[in-house]
Amino acid sequence: MASRYDLSKDELVAWLGNEPRYRATQIWEGLYQQFAEPADISALPKTLRARVQEELPSSLSLVTERVSDGGDTSKFLWELEGGARIETVLMLYPDRVTVCVSTQAGCAMACGFCATGQAGFTRHLSVGEIVEQVVVAARRGREMGRRVGNIVFMGMGEPLANEPNVHAAVERLHDDIGISARHLTVSTVGVVPGIHRLAQWAEPVNLAVSLHAANDQLRDDLVPINKRYPIGMLMDACADYLDARGRRLSFEWALIDSVNDRRQDAVELAELCHDLPLPAHVNLIPLNSTPGYPTRGTPPEGVARFRDELLRMGVNVTVRANRGNDIDAACGQLAAGQPVEVRTAITSKRVPS
Ligand code: SAH
Repeated sequence: MASRYDLSKDELVAWLGNEPRYRATQIWEGLYQQFAEPADISALPKTLRARVQEELPSSLSLVTERVSDGGDTSKFLWELEGGARIETVLMLYPDRVTVCVSTQAGCAMACGFCATGQAGFTRHLSVGEIVEQVVVAARRGREMGRRVGNIVFMGMGEPLANEPNVHAAVERLHDDIGISARHLTVSTVGVVPGIHRLAQWAEPVNLAVSLHAANDQLRDDLVPINKRYPIGMLMDACADYLDARGRRLSFEWALIDSVNDRRQDAVELAELCHDLPLPAHVNLIPLNSTPGYPTRGTPPEGVARFRDELLRMGVNVTVRANRGNDIDAACGQLAAGQPVEVRTAITSKRVPS
């Protein structure tokens, strides 16, 4: 059965059959503007409300909602049709509200330091499953008197491994909910063909690349997809994106103690940033703990030192504030309750430089 956020507007018209066409518009507005349950779309006659409610189900069943940061971070655990589980994080800031959405149940990219990667891949999410995460988070935000304005595709999964559905979801968020492209950010581990496709989307979204290492030897180890799409190819794709879009590109860098936080790492990273047609912005984040990766994040003094080295080399850099660590909602901690193998040996060794 199709879920209500999977149908395109034309499919909804077809589904409505003999109903007048304006009913489709009313339902569409109810779903995408009011974030309403069909039963609550007051413009519709009661019988039609009931039919939509029953025949076009929601695709997300809430398992748990956990709250942290004094109510400013909420993590939703959803069960999907077929039993797969995913998570969504809602983050309230003084000046904005951001939703972090999942694009796959699990992930096939196998980055050892990421809880989603440790758990492996289950399946792609449909368009409706992606869009509905935003809708329910926006509904919750509204209950708290806030408007969701930013979406980051940084939850579970690799967005550009599910590029057709992610793009269709971006179109809905942009065209139907009305979120502007500069408030949408797609994060990728570096799926090069997907970056080239994204560069051609009609919506000029922001791109974040999870870099974490600036030489192939270390990156092969931390981010296995690097063996297929090494740094040279990845930088060409980033340049293609910047040439096509002129939008902000950021490099995500999870600082791992004694693995990628040395001066030489900063030097190599600065070179990559400066070699692009527009300078990339670096987001530093100390590695969050996950059950399957024993190495710890760089301590605060090391983070400040790494940041200062980049600043001295003229790189734009921000240390990202961490959210929701205590409820496993922070970057790299989303596992949707999947058990992962707990490793005790250090798996990533520093490559001698
Ligand atoms: N697969 C996409 C989308 C996930 S975004 C991507 O990799 O970009 C999640 C971000 O958190 C990525 O930048 C990822 O590298 C980072 N991350 C993963 N594990 C982490 C950890 N343990 N601590 C901090 N950041 C982590």
